[in-house]
Amino acid sequence: MGRDNLLNIHSVIPLSRVNGPGKRLVVFFQGCARRCPGCFNPATHPFKPVHLYSPQGLYKEFLLPDIEGITVSGGEPFSQTGGLLHLLRLCKESLGLTTVVYTGFLYEELKKGSLSGSTLKYIDVLIDGRFEEDKKEPTLLARGSTNQRFFFFNSLYQQNDFIMPAKVEIIIGKDGIIKETGFSKTNFNLN
Ligand code: SF4
Repeated sequence: MGRDNLLNIHSVIPLSRVNGPGKRLVVFFQGCARRCPGCFNPATHPFKPVHLYSPQGLYKEFLLPDIEGITVSGGEPFSQTGGLLHLLRLCKESLGLTTVVYTGFLYEELKKGSLSGSTLKYIDVLIDGRFEEDKKEPTLLARGSTNQRFFFFNSLYQQNDFIMPAKVEIIIGKDGIIKETGFSKTNFNLN
C-alpha cells in the first residue's frame, strides 16, 4: 500500500465500552468538510495528515485481545472511502470483528456510489447523518440528533445492543493525556 493509500487517522481508542456493543476498538478518521455547528470533534475537520497508518499497521499497533468489534467515526470516514473499505474488509474477513460506522452522509447517498456502495457490505451497523444542533437530543441511544438513523444490515446487532454501561468513559492515553469519549449530555461522541 503506497503512502497515498494510507489512512489519515485523528486518534484511536484501543478499548472502549461506550462506542457501540461490547469491547470495541474505536478509530476516528481525520478530515470532514461539513463543519456542522456544534460538531462533537472540530479537531478532526482539517484535511491535514495527522497519523498515517495502513489498515494492517493500525490493527497491529492497536488491536487488543477480546475485542468484539471496531467502531469507525470521525471526521468523515467516507472521505477516505478506499482506505475505509480496506480496513473494514480486513476487520470482517481476516479478524472476525464486527463493524459499526458513523457517517455524516445519508445511507441513500452512499448506496449510489460504486466504492461507497461496495463498502456498505462490510458494515454491520451504519449510523448516518450529520449532527444537527437544532435536533440535538441527549436521551437518544448512541446518537446526537434526531435526524441520525441506525441501519442494521444483518442480525448481529439490534438497537438494544447500543444500550451501553455508561454514557461516557475517561481514557488515559500512553502519553498520559486524559480524554473523554462516549455520548455526553452536550455532545455526540467526543475524543
Ligand atoms: S458532526 Fe460529523 S459530519 Fe458534522 S462536521 Fe462533525 S464529523 Fe463532520
